[in-house]
Order: sequence, then structure tokens, then C-alpha cells
Amino acid sequence: MRKAIFKVGVLALQGDVREHIAAIEQIEHGGAVAFAVRRPEEILSVDALIIPGGESTTIAHLAHTFEVFDLIKERIKSGMPAYGSCAGMILLADRVLDAAADQTTFGGLDITVRRNAFGRQVDSFEVDIELLGLHESMRAVFIRAPWVEEVGAKVEVLGSVSMTGAGTHAVAVRQGHLLATSFHPELTSDNRIHRYFLDVVCKG
Ligand code: GLN
Repeated sequence: MRKAIFKVGVLALQGDVREHIAAIEQIEHGGAVAFAVRRPEEILSVDALIIPGGESTTIAHLAHTFEVFDLIKERIKSGMPAYGSCAGMILLADRVLDAAADQTTFGGLDITVRRNAFGRQVDSFEVDIELLGLHESMRAVFIRAPWVEEVGAKVEVLGSVSMTGAGTHAVAVRQGHLLATSFHPELTSDNRIHRYFLDVVCKG
């Protein structure tokens, strides 16, 4: 019998959608395909969802406009694996600090994130970070990124960044079928986070 193809949808409302599709496609994984999704029937058809970096308020707003907000929230709640980078992390968070007025999230991850947390001076930066489960450090790209301020008991912190004067904050977390990073692995050629999502998180 042929193995079923594992379908990864990349939420294509706004943000760096193509980069996530490319990252999944680079993985010689034997059976995962990635494609853009935005309509309800497309979102219903996927086995897992990636929420890209971009602007969390815009993505949430468009999800309401396209009438997929509640559907995505529901699918996440009922166990669909999901990975969010940067804005995607915010959209998976249960609680947001420095949120825009009326900002909504799909939620699911028992974390509190602070939007644009690294401040104006260091809006965008790159740093090598150590991540649990990866043998070597990873170059992480941060662009107006959130950090994680609080994690619930079921959340596993996979990696953190220390900022002079601002302490140490989690930037990669997992809770069961949900994975989120403050940074953008899709903007580098290092696809270990995407591989971890497929090989570990999606397999439960
Ligand atoms: N600052 C953005 C937000 O609040 C996230 C930035 C990003 O995804 N690079 O949504």
C-alpha cells in the first residue's frame, strides 16, 4: 500500500508564505507536501498548518474577513499540528502583551508573548542560538520579533536569547502538537526547525 502524503498548509493571508513552502519542499522527508491555503475547504484538507511571519494583526484581520478565523482556532484546539514563526507565534499564543487594540489570536499555546519585544534599537538582528534537540547552534533571524514572557506548565522551552539589560527570554517553544519560534528559520537555508516540526511535533 502506498504511504499517504502528509499535507502541510501554509496560511496565505499575508507574510512570508513562499519561504515556508520552500523550506518544507527542501526536506527530503518522503511524503510531505506544502502549499498555500486560505479558503475554508483548503484549511480543512490539510494535516498540519504553518502560520508565517508577517504582521499578526493583519493576518488575524484577514482570517476574520476570509471567514477562516474560527475554523483555524477550532482545528488547532482539536489537535491539528501547527507551527508559527514570529507573527505566527503571536497568533498561536493564548496571551499577548503590547497587543494592538482588539488584537485576536487563534491561541492554543499556553504562553504570554510580548510583541515587538526586542525594541527599536534592535528591531532586526541575527544571533546563534542553542536549541534543544539540535546538535549544533542555529543562526536565528529576528525581525520586530516577539519574545515569550511566561509559559504554562505544559510548555517546553526549546531555546532562549539573552539580551544585555533585558534578561533571558524564550524564543522557541513547544506544547504538544504546537511549535512556535520568535525568529524566522524560513529566511535561512537551515531547515532543521521545519524538519523538527514534521518529524517530531507532527508525529506527536
Ligand atoms: N511585529 C510583527 C507582529 O506583531 C511580527 C513581525 C514578524 O513576523 N517578522 O505581528
